[in-house]
Amino acid sequence: MANETEKTEKNEVKALQEKLFSQNKHAGQRMTEQELADCNVFCEDYKSFMNLAKTEREANAFVIAELEKFGYQPFTPGMELRAGDRIYLNNRGKSVILATIGTEDIRKGVRLCAAHIDSPRLDLKQHPVYEDAEMGYFKTHYYGGIKKYQWTAIPLSLHGVIIRKDGSKLTVRIGEDASEPVFYITDLLPHLADDQMRRTLAQGIKGEELNIVIGSMPFRSDEGSNLVKLQILNILHQKYAITEDDFISAELEAVPAFPARDVGFDRSMIGAYGHDDRVCAYPAFRASLDVPAPKHTSVVILTDKEETGSDGNTGLKSAYLKYFLCDLAECFGANGRTVMSASKCLSADVNAGFDATFPDVLERKNCAYLNHGVCVTKFTGARGKSGTSDASAEFVGEIRNLLDSQNVIWQTGELGKVDVGGGGTVAAYIANLNIDTIDIGVPVLSMHSPYELVAKTDVWAAYRAFRVFLES
Ligand code: MN
Ligand code: MN
Repeated sequence: MANETEKTEKNEVKALQEKLFSQNKHAGQRMTEQELADCNVFCEDYKSFMNLAKTEREANAFVIAELEKFGYQPFTPGMELRAGDRIYLNNRGKSVILATIGTEDIRKGVRLCAAHIDSPRLDLKQHPVYEDAEMGYFKTHYYGGIKKYQWTAIPLSLHGVIIRKDGSKLTVRIGEDASEPVFYITDLLPHLADDQMRRTLAQGIKGEELNIVIGSMPFRSDEGSNLVKLQILNILHQKYAITEDDFISAELEAVPAFPARDVGFDRSMIGAYGHDDRVCAYPAFRASLDVPAPKHTSVVILTDKEETGSDGNTGLKSAYLKYFLCDLAECFGANGRTVMSASKCLSADVNAGFDATFPDVLERKNCAYLNHGVCVTKFTGARGKSGTSDASAEFVGEIRNLLDSQNVIWQTGELGKVDVGGGGTVAAYIANLNIDTIDIGVPVLSMHSPYELVAKTDVWAAYRAFRVFLES
């Protein structure tokens, strides 16, 4: 009898806990076989994209080529638009806005997804080429927040553009194909690294030590100095018709030459350079393609310069998004400010996933876990939420209900323990246009490293979240 009572009490407790406690199950326990299969197909496409689009320029070019296949037209102010029309705006080859006109009056606002397509990397300086001890090098200046020591002793590829003296443009992409050479930054052998090993991790490799090896053979001659540099410039001149001064008007980016690969015996994760934030940009772009007839006009913006603070005319602190929305509004005889004030935005950027090897920096009750879905983040910022847009409870409620009603797997989490650090996204700059904005994105491990890690189910959850939002 006592046992019976105990059993009933246990069941009651269990039932009450299930009803009252927050539940957050692993996606692997929640997704159907069909969903897992769809997720895998999507992630194969994502990996192909990652191998083709390693920089903002390459992501921009990839996306625009696809958009043209799907009937998107270049946007011009004043053009005649009706429901179902698809347009895009190419901002200087480094950021792109795509939109599908909805059936609803534009004055009811747009559904906006914003992600960034720039990632931390090493940019070449404007006088990069030099020779020292019969080795040729490039000088670099790193872009975005990196742990510098991680960028040595790995294969690097070179991407970007060079504008020659005559104004012609050369597009550069060397080191991705197995037949091409790669580039390399040296580190000190441990045998001679006693002094270096006593440096702090931040100083382990210093900014001016990130020098890229680019050659070692001299120009054949018994006379003259700097013959290795001469040989390299000679090769570049013959191959690309450039001279040393052409680097002044170039944007060349060294990035890890690794391809995206499955990680783990169960192939449940993807390792790649630049998940931050192409792991949100690609799903947002695909969601736009897959919503041909939205109710509200759908807008996806893939921006540049997030990793250096969003300044500059291709970053989201610039007016290009605002100008686009104003021009779009005018196509329908509406005010830009009316449209913006009624709009809603998912600021799609990655978040830190919980890393069991480094558990101390995250607060376990309020952080994102791999395979627990796309992460909704109410606020970002640092030291008392400084720099955050902090979505309203009302807007969080709206997004929560939308995701739940469409069975999107999602979780909530913030970037790190209070006062441990922090970071921001583009959310604040969009919210500053009087647009309801919330952060949402894929949890990442080893963020900003040369090879970042994400879970496939979370990539899929992000795609589903953006899609149901653009459909709403
Ligand atoms: Mn990011
Ligand atoms: Mn970042």
